[in-house]
Amino acid sequence: MARDVLVIADLRGQDLRNVTLEALGGALRVAEGGRVAALAIGHGLEKAAAALFAHGATEVWLADQEALSHYQPDLYLAATEAAIAEVRPALVLLAHSAIGRDLGPMIAAAHGAGQASDVIAVDLQDGEVVYTRPIYAGKAFTRVKVKGELAVATVRPNNLPMPESGTATGEARALAFAAPSDLRTTLREVVRKTASGVDLTEAKIIVSGGRGVKSAEGFVPLRELADVLGAALGASRGACDAGYCDYAMQVGQTGKVVTPDLYIACGISGAIQHLAGMSNSKVIVAINKDPEAPIFKVADYGIVGDLFEIVPALTAELRAFLG
Ligand SMILES: Cc1cc2nc3c(=O)[nH]c(=O)nc-3n(C[C@H](O)[C@H](O)[C@H](O)COP(=O)(O)OP(=O)(O)OC[C@H]3O[C@@H](n4cnc5c(N)ncnc54)[C@H](O)[C@@H]3O)c2cc1C
Repeated sequence: MARDVLVIADLRGQDLRNVTLEALGGALRVAEGGRVAALAIGHGLEKAAAALFAHGATEVWLADQEALSHYQPDLYLAATEAAIAEVRPALVLLAHSAIGRDLGPMIAAAHGAGQASDVIAVDLQDGEVVYTRPIYAGKAFTRVKVKGELAVATVRPNNLPMPESGTATGEARALAFAAPSDLRTTLREVVRKTASGVDLTEAKIIVSGGRGVKSAEGFVPLRELADVLGAALGASRGACDAGYCDYAMQVGQTGKVVTPDLYIACGISGAIQHLAGMSNSKVIVAINKDPEAPIFKVADYGIVGDLFEIVPALTAELRAFLG
């Protein structure tokens, strides 16, 4: 049965985050011939619109205003509601990002709709959409269906396959919507706290440090390894609590949930709360001087030894190998 789907784009400035294209891939899989519309909210969205068409969106709506350059819940909800009124989708897909986690439930609440959060797969089963999502801090998975005329789902980055970019183009449509006059929140300042240029939640490779790095300077060899690999830098809460790095780098149950192709854990014991954020990584390498450290139970490759010897040696080898 054909169903129309609306994907709400997640942007970094004027650039689409990969998770938007992954959500678009999910939408294309379950639309069964229905429309796959995308909505981009922000300012200066021509490039994003072109990318959405190229990756398979059948229609693109733009809410393009300077006031939308940064996320503002009331304005973004008003724009989303206008797009829903235009598209009348059976399913709204968003990124499981800071914005999607805020906006998704507001959309669901406004429509009395059900929401599947943090989904890692979107499939069809007997003609119905089924969402797979981790539960119990990633120890088990549940497959859920959402009843009703509208479903809302947020998609975890790095999990759904991204559709190939093609040559499709299209004319994006300007979305008309009435901005609420009484905004309940005002953006005063944006403080960027990314430790490197690579977005942790979308990174294909992450080098992560724990309390074993022993100081802020202890992250220097990890940063060198990350630079050679084009990786993002992460951390355990132990390292953050000790003041070695910023909490923006924290991976885990109360930090960021990541699913990179390669996760290199350096001086991290592997507490359950840390594993909750990274155990679904495709390949895990652990470097720890304690052979009994729990991180080795989830590691595909383990190196027992001092990270201050191993990490620089690894960096030198990889630099020579990768040129
Ligand atoms: C409610 C709650 C939520 C939490 N959320 C999170 C979360 O989101 N993320 C998170 O990470 N934690 C979280 N924690 C904390 C978690 O329980 C652990 O305390 C924390 O993960 C430990 O960090 P760590 O592995 O860096 O430190 P430690 O457990 O102290 O481990 C340090 C490791 O470094 C190794 N080591 C030391 N020196 C070297 C060396 N020179 N070379 C190699 N290895 C070395 C040691 O053998 C040890 O295994 C949470 C806890 C609670 C209660």
